[in-house]
Amino acid sequence: MVNKAGLEIKKYDVIIIGGGFSGLTLALGMGNLGLNVACLDKDEPKMQIDKSHDIRTVAISNGSSHVFERVGVWQKMVNRGCLIKKIEIIDDNMVKKLYFDSQEVKKSGFGWIIDNVFMREILQDSVKKHKNIDYIAPFGVEVIENTNELVKITGKNGEFLASTLLVGADGRQSFVRKVQKIRSFGWSYGQTALTCVIEHEKPHDNTAIEHFLPYGPFASVPMCAEKNGVYRSSIVWTLEKAAGTDLLSCSEERFNRALSEQMNRRFGNVRLIGKRQGFPLSFHHAYGYVATRTALIADAAHGIHPIAGQGLNLGMRDIGVLLDVLETALRNGQDIGSDTVLSCYQRKRLLDNTLMCVGTDVLNSVFRIEFTPFKRLRQWGVMAVGHVPPLKRALMRYAMGLSPFDR
Ligand SMILES: Cc1cc2nc3c(=O)[nH]c(=O)nc-3n(C[C@H](O)[C@H](O)[C@H](O)COP(=O)(O)OP(=O)(O)OC[C@H]3O[C@@H](n4cnc5c(N)ncnc54)[C@H](O)[C@@H]3O)c2cc1C
Repeated sequence: MVNKAGLEIKKYDVIIIGGGFSGLTLALGMGNLGLNVACLDKDEPKMQIDKSHDIRTVAISNGSSHVFERVGVWQKMVNRGCLIKKIEIIDDNMVKKLYFDSQEVKKSGFGWIIDNVFMREILQDSVKKHKNIDYIAPFGVEVIENTNELVKITGKNGEFLASTLLVGADGRQSFVRKVQKIRSFGWSYGQTALTCVIEHEKPHDNTAIEHFLPYGPFASVPMCAEKNGVYRSSIVWTLEKAAGTDLLSCSEERFNRALSEQMNRRFGNVRLIGKRQGFPLSFHHAYGYVATRTALIADAAHGIHPIAGQGLNLGMRDIGVLLDVLETALRNGQDIGSDTVLSCYQRKRLLDNTLMCVGTDVLNSVFRIEFTPFKRLRQWGVMAVGHVPPLKRALMRYAMGLSPFDR
């Protein structure tokens, strides 16, 4: 096949733009279905697995672990994961805390905490070895052109690619979303998430702690101990912009002091390891996830507050559904880029994504309100969750990425 200028076009079944967590995972799933896939990323793969590029960890739910298992990478990932067995919620003014124990829903844990860089390394490695996938990075996309039968991509270095289906997995500022004119809405939270890894004296007992404060939540999640037995946790500290800038740039000594104070010496002495990183927080949601021969997944379609550690987990649910829909389409001999197939994917994902978008946004707002009668109402709400076991169990299962209504 040649383009208008008579130059050779490389043809695929699917082109995925974005080789982050979601793009790489989807590429593996599609490759396993026997599809011929190109996964393109603007950045150098080595840079993405450099520890100084991303020091974050990610909470992987049970539901996401099933998607990683399906694409064949879970056994490698879980080796380095730290199981979350308990979750503790603390309201700023509440004497009582809310505890969730995974045993209450007969599970060994709520999920796992895994290093972002380690996960990317496994995904990149598996994609590079897959015979049905061309992982092309760095690749600069210049033009995306739709025809009835194909989507054509022109690269900044003059490459020409085409496919039956294009997937936008290119994150919050999605180029695919803009070029394919899929409208979205969103706002900034005016907050910064300060992230870092700490060492501490006392054990974390595999407990994730979320302390809701008027300016945003402070979360500490358990990491595996280092070989020398030192306890480690990963921190996501949501702060107003100015306070975030201050704590990102202050001396390590002052930072360690502020951190110990915030943690009320629960872990004894705490110490920052490595650097601190700040992420401006915002929300967005696309009005739809599909256009001609195009589908959006994960952060390209929806970006939420990290308050519940569910952003990537939501993206993994998109991937699970898209793989199911494509598998059925292939079995029925349907065109995988057709409107019928893609609208089925969109229909199956809109409600779940909308619920999580609204849920995390409301949660962030509710805990920021300082109006006393409202604070009382909030405390009753939190206590009600603790005292109504079916509601508590349903919430726990939803956070795990499982159906809230199963027993
Ligand atoms: C502080 C913080 C903590 C979080 N904690 C959690 C958590 O505990 N659990 C959880 O589930 N989620 C968490 N999240 C959310 C999670 O990090 C994101 O949902 C996830 O990274 C989205 O993955 P993605 O692959 O969709 O997008 P990204 O990770 O943004 O990847 C997009 C990829 O596309 C590439 N790209 C972009 N533009 C182009 C282009 N034009 N051409 C080619 N390539 C392009 C980029 O280089 C990148 O590799 C957290 C987020 C933050 C900010």
